[in-house]
Amino acid sequence: MRIDLSRRVALVTGASRGLGRGIALALARAGAPVVVNYREDEVGAKETVAAVEAGGGTAWPCRADVGVGHEVEAMIAATHERFGRVDILVNNAGIARDRLLLEMEEREWNEVLRTNLEGVYHCSRLAARGMLERRWGRLINVSSVNAWRGSKGQTNYAASKGAVNAFTRSLAAELAPKGITVNAIAPGLIRTDMTESLLPLAERTIRERIAVRRVGTPEDVAPLAVFLASDAAGYITGQIIAVDGGMF
Ligand code: NAP
Repeated sequence: MRIDLSRRVALVTGASRGLGRGIALALARAGAPVVVNYREDEVGAKETVAAVEAGGGTAWPCRADVGVGHEVEAMIAATHERFGRVDILVNNAGIARDRLLLEMEEREWNEVLRTNLEGVYHCSRLAARGMLERRWGRLINVSSVNAWRGSKGQTNYAASKGAVNAFTRSLAAELAPKGITVNAIAPGLIRTDMTESLLPLAERTIRERIAVRRVGTPEDVAPLAVFLASDAAGYITGQIIAVDGGMF
């Protein structure tokens, strides 16, 4: 099946590296102009844009902290000005601040919830307005298998992703009659900056718990985002789909 997204405009949050960059590149390869959101890493965002352009696609970097409502509002307005609309929103921006709960500072709890959950709230509601007018849209949230499994040191992170899953199912029910689907991808262990420090410690987990016996890459995850963004996925909504190499 060939997926053609050339009539769609995509916005990927946190696309300056890692999974967001991989998803932005894949959406652009399917033909969509892509807004490459970032918060601090302007150099990385420009590298993503350059990689899209090198493949013949269109991309544009746009700074906004997804956890700050007025910054997201400005980003959506700038996207409308530049490309006319947002058809596909990938809520990928996310952070981890791992620490055992009794040692976790309130700031670390709040930072994770603000980025991973409130960011999804701000971006989804502001992007969905235009989708409602056009009666077509795709919201794709990047969750995590840790929302189901839980993980020592990740009460903040797992709680934020569990909430994203609940948000996904609830918003899917609200928007399905309007031609907008809402789904989440739950990656397992993927090689990015976020997991760089964990990977040397994860050898045993990889051997014992990942059925395909290797860590994933952004390229393992991105094709599902492209499929969920397509017309072909119009009957799939409210789903949380794991891409984890078979983690048991
Ligand atoms: P990463 O390499 O650390 O990249 C995170 C991205 O998010 C960066 O582009 C960063 O941009 C951006 N970002 C962070 N805070 C932001 C904010 N407030 N506003 C806008 N952008 C922000 O992480 P990753 O591994 O690619 O993770 C991407 C998503 O996948 C996250 O939601 C993560 O929870 C999820 N995930 C990852 C894994 C994994 O194994 N890697 C597994 C499951 C789920 P700046 O540097 O410019 O801030």
